[in-house]
Amino acid sequence: MVSAPIILANAEIRDEFIADGMRQLRRGASAGDVAELVACAVEDDPEEHTVGYGGWPNILGEVELDASFMDGATLRAGAVAALKGFRHPISVARQVMLRLPHVLLVGEGAARFATEIGAERRDMLSPEAQAAWRQRIAEVAQHEEKDAITLTMRALVERRGSDTMNVIVRDAAGNMCSAVSTSGIAWKYPGRVGDSPIIGAGNYCDNRYGAAACMGLGEVAIRIGAAAQAVMLMRLGWSLEAAGREVACQLYALLGESNATDPMRRADWVRILIMDAAGNVGAFATRPGLSYKVQTADDPRPITREAVCPV
Ligand code: ASP
Repeated sequence: MVSAPIILANAEIRDEFIADGMRQLRRGASAGDVAELVACAVEDDPEEHTVGYGGWPNILGEVELDASFMDGATLRAGAVAALKGFRHPISVARQVMLRLPHVLLVGEGAARFATEIGAERRDMLSPEAQAAWRQRIAEVAQHEEKDAITLTMRALVERRGSDTMNVIVRDAAGNMCSAVSTSGIAWKYPGRVGDSPIIGAGNYCDNRYGAAACMGLGEVAIRIGAAAQAVMLMRLGWSLEAAGREVACQLYALLGESNATDPMRRADWVRILIMDAAGNVGAFATRPGLSYKVQTADDPRPITREAVCPV
């Protein structure tokens, strides 16, 4: 099968990273290799504060990273959660898929695996992220309450983070691959895992029906299995547009409840990127003003488009 390569990504990713991926696709690179290439570039970008190096830390000042990788041809997947001290969580996630009969490794086990495969170590806390964390702790650590639960509940009232890396790639052979990488919500409780490494919640990919990836408040994407649900609706014959609107409306309904009851009330949105099996793309969000990028083989550079907000 010959099909046109395409890259769908979140708007916060630099154009050059996407354009570089498209150059590789035009030369015949696989969707998997290009998804990893783009994700690694974003993980190295110190200006990107919700992914890889420079990501906002948890409430203890530790950068805990989540990432997942899914191959649409085989439905194989790999993921890591709460991984500390490695430069490229996305590459570790892909290797989980390739080398182990497992899908998700967390914390110490993920770090052990990363060490065993020779993944590059790095102190992922940038001076800027550390300064922001110190300032936030100074703001919220009043009196004697210094336990992590109290601090987290106070710190989360202010929303930080939201640039989770989402990339969905289709190559010239028609294979699709999706990659997601994030440092998660800033000032999270240690060990908190968002939607990004949860296959079906923040990431799902199936060549036959399409792929989806999420950004925003992971807790609600987990609760409705957002990415898998979008793909399953397309499997049942729904159009990309109808599936995206339906999932965004469900996310919005849960966010309304969270806004009223959670300290994360300012983390008040989710956006889902969707590609269908024919290579059509779209994005759907629970609030207006969110965008995404797409580049086809004919485009000299990525094009930014506004996500649909159906609520
Ligand atoms: N979805 C990510 C998480 O919940 C964070 C984000 O996109 O802001 O961990």
